[in-house]
Amino acid sequence: MYQQAFSTNVKPHFENQKNVELCCHPLRDYIGNLQVFVARNVGQTYKIHYRSFSSAAKLIQRNPSFSTLNADDVKHFKEILGEKNVIEDEDTLSTANVDWMRKYKGSSKLLLQPRSTEEVSQILKYCNSRRLAVVPQGGNTGLVGGSVPVFDEVIVNLGSMNSIISFDEVSGILVCEAGCILENLDSFLANKGFIMPLDLGAKGSCQIGGNVSTNAGGLRFVRYGSLHGNILGLEAVLANGTVLDMLGTLRKDNTGYDLKQLFIGSEGSLGIVTKVSILTPPKLSSINLAFLACKDYFSCQKLLLEAKRKLGEVLSAFEFLDNQSMDMVLTHLEGVRNPLPPSMYNFYVLIETTGSDESYDKEKLEAFLLRSMEGGLISDGVVAQDINQASSFWRIREGITEALMKAGAVYKYDLSLPVEKMYKLVEEMRLRLGPSAKVMGYGHLGDANLHLNISTSQYDDTVLAQIEPFVYEWTSGHRGSISAEHGLGLMKANEIHYSKSSETVQLMASIKKLFDSNGILNPYKSAEFIIFPEISHFLFNYIECEGNQDSIAELGQTNNGKYAEEVIWMENFYLSYQLRSWVLIVITSHSCKEVSGIVS
Ligand SMILES: Cc1cc2nc3c(=O)[nH]c(=O)nc-3n(C[C@H](O)[C@H](O)[C@H](O)COP(=O)(O)OP(=O)(O)OC[C@H]3O[C@@H](n4cnc5c(N)ncnc54)[C@H](O)[C@@H]3O)c2cc1C
Repeated sequence: MYQQAFSTNVKPHFENQKNVELCCHPLRDYIGNLQVFVARNVGQTYKIHYRSFSSAAKLIQRNPSFSTLNADDVKHFKEILGEKNVIEDEDTLSTANVDWMRKYKGSSKLLLQPRSTEEVSQILKYCNSRRLAVVPQGGNTGLVGGSVPVFDEVIVNLGSMNSIISFDEVSGILVCEAGCILENLDSFLANKGFIMPLDLGAKGSCQIGGNVSTNAGGLRFVRYGSLHGNILGLEAVLANGTVLDMLGTLRKDNTGYDLKQLFIGSEGSLGIVTKVSILTPPKLSSINLAFLACKDYFSCQKLLLEAKRKLGEVLSAFEFLDNQSMDMVLTHLEGVRNPLPPSMYNFYVLIETTGSDESYDKEKLEAFLLRSMEGGLISDGVVAQDINQASSFWRIREGITEALMKAGAVYKYDLSLPVEKMYKLVEEMRLRLGPSAKVMGYGHLGDANLHLNISTSQYDDTVLAQIEPFVYEWTSGHRGSISAEHGLGLMKANEIHYSKSSETVQLMASIKKLFDSNGILNPYKSAEFIIFPEISHFLFNYIECEGNQDSIAELGQTNNGKYAEEVIWMENFYLSYQLRSWVLIVITSHSCKEVSGIVS
């Protein structure tokens, strides 16, 4: 059952109707030889009935242009991959069909486990020719419903492609297959005196291909930056089976467009990443971790600024959590304890330093902590004395996601906001929701990334309607991003316009079309909706347009191609909808009219 809701109402408006202006519509090429003129702001009265969106479950229907898997398909996959890599077993499928949060559930009947790029290529080539939809899957730890099917998409899991191809001990460049688990790569590198430039709570399960495809951030981002900088090359297979070899190992390469960047963060919508080349930093010998308490959020901010100034090059993590997040962990995770006197502080901060000189780094950190204590920025604190204590501190921060899962329903938001505004949203949300929900704020303060989480005993549409679209509007109003590091997935596919301009979204749509013309890769997510006319009609339960000459009845019910021309225009309808205003172009075989409205 999908928990995402679309609470937005569509309000037609017909003011400002001006004279008819005939012009060629940009989508004309799409329609081939049909001669199309668009009457802008037609001076006629159109009455449009509409229903508001309620939930994704009701909203999304299976795209009828996709084929349904049959016995011949399965036979073909067995020929390519061998019997044991074509999984039809119900237990395995039930796990692969559900996401980590257990919020999104698909009904795929087939899981494929390729062992080479060539096999991935053959799978996609076949799926494309048969129009079988595909969902690429890594460790299935994604938090936005991107890694599981929505309907019966074929799951292609990269877990069997887990070999390390090469490691250059001078440059620190690692080349490996996409299915390598992040923690395994880190352990491999530790033996060579290097580390992965990213680290996250899901490291024991997530795969590097999944990390690249989500452009994962995590705990080391403040020090080593984004994967857009650390990924030097990659290999990806396009929907039609073409293998793109961009597996360079160069730090500098300015020969034309840097196409690999498109795959970083594209959430499996442009191709399947099969190999990656990563720049890894040396493992430094001295690591210190302080667990600190602050009386208010302002002190946390000031502490961050001071840490950047005074700890400079050794600062390797700056994380924060509020008292409510701490309570959540202490209540739901066994064996976790607060290293500081309980229930006394409003905020906690973890500061990690990583350097090469143990006594110098320690001295530096201690001097910083002392000054911050004297200045009142820190109320209390403790520095880990050994690796076990450090792990127990990290367990608190990294365990919040797990604790929230155990507590019941969780509404999860991953936002980029200006640091000084970040916690205001948490406070406003608390006021909005009252005592019926627990509102928590934590995250990567060093990167201005807030994880806003709302915990209730069970999922409830009225709670959701209080949260959305408020949270997105608030974020957009402060020029933030509605996805800092988790991606859009199914959860936020429809919300992209809060963070991206219309021109950008349109260009994304064209890129998607270019890379995956049949739209088989990870459908119903990301930029998908705005591209494929065949599914755009799912957006409305019912639309009725009464005009002087033209009418379209119940487009929402249509899936038999009868309204093929209108469906093309529904694409435009949705594209406009994304931009908070819309244009419905009513087209018949002899004429074409446009009506517009606003979305409130
Ligand atoms: C406890 C916990 C802590 C987390 N902490 C963080 C954090 O600090 N920072 C952060 O950014 N995320 C975090 N996450 C989210 C998640 O772990 C990351 O998004 C991770 O990068 C997903 O990797 P995965 O292999 O599990 O990918 P999946 O969940 O399997 O897939 C994620 C997306 O990538 C696509 N995909 C996967 N593999 C490929 C491939 N080879 N080619 C093309 N597309 C592919 C999928 O289709 C899907 O859209 C956390 C999750 C959990 C459960």
